[in-house]
Amino acid sequence: MTLNEISQAKNLIIKYGKKLGEKNMSPATSGNISVRMGENVLITGSGTCLEDLSEEDIVLIDKDANIIEGTIKPSSEKNLHNAIYAIRPDINAIIHCHAPYSSAFAVCRIPLSKPIISENVFYFGEIPVADYALPGSEKLVENTAKFFAKHDAVLLANHGIVIGAKDIKNAYYLMETAETYAQICLNSMLLGGAKELNKKETEEIYALRSASK
Ligand SMILES: [Zn+2]
Repeated sequence: MTLNEISQAKNLIIKYGKKLGEKNMSPATSGNISVRMGENVLITGSGTCLEDLSEEDIVLIDKDANIIEGTIKPSSEKNLHNAIYAIRPDINAIIHCHAPYSSAFAVCRIPLSKPIISENVFYFGEIPVADYALPGSEKLVENTAKFFAKHDAVLLANHGIVIGAKDIKNAYYLMETAETYAQICLNSMLLGGAKELNKKETEEIYALRSASK
């Protein structure tokens, strides 16, 4: 991993952190972003604001969360990021944030599972809710990482959402898709409830999904 590659990856983290902030998905110093760099991981520092990151706010850690490069303390959710990378070799970027609509479902412990929009059925199938655990704790890692065996996005009960993807651009797009989905779900409840896609319609979307992989 060259210094240039590290710098490029840091700049992408800065770019998508800013977009998360602009879209109101990461209030103040909440949330964290990481990118896999071979055996190591670049991750935002503890107490940093994702909308307003600089290169010094991002630190390179190894799989045991030891600092390889950088001076800032890594995010307290570093072990969650590392655990997800360990089970999913195809995931190379992770975003965790407290996006308000997704987090509303997380605090109510309601999974985003209704097949009401084809795009969301296609990208997520379902976004389950991991049991509550103290932010930054080993219990949170234990409760959450296991869902990534079958899912790319998980709500953290009474906390927020975490999403993994093949690269940071796709992780950001998935986050925007999930947040919009949560907003539409909530609005549809206010309007008396969405009409769900039926089993056949859902299966047709799953077939498209398998064909695209
Ligand atoms: Zn959090």
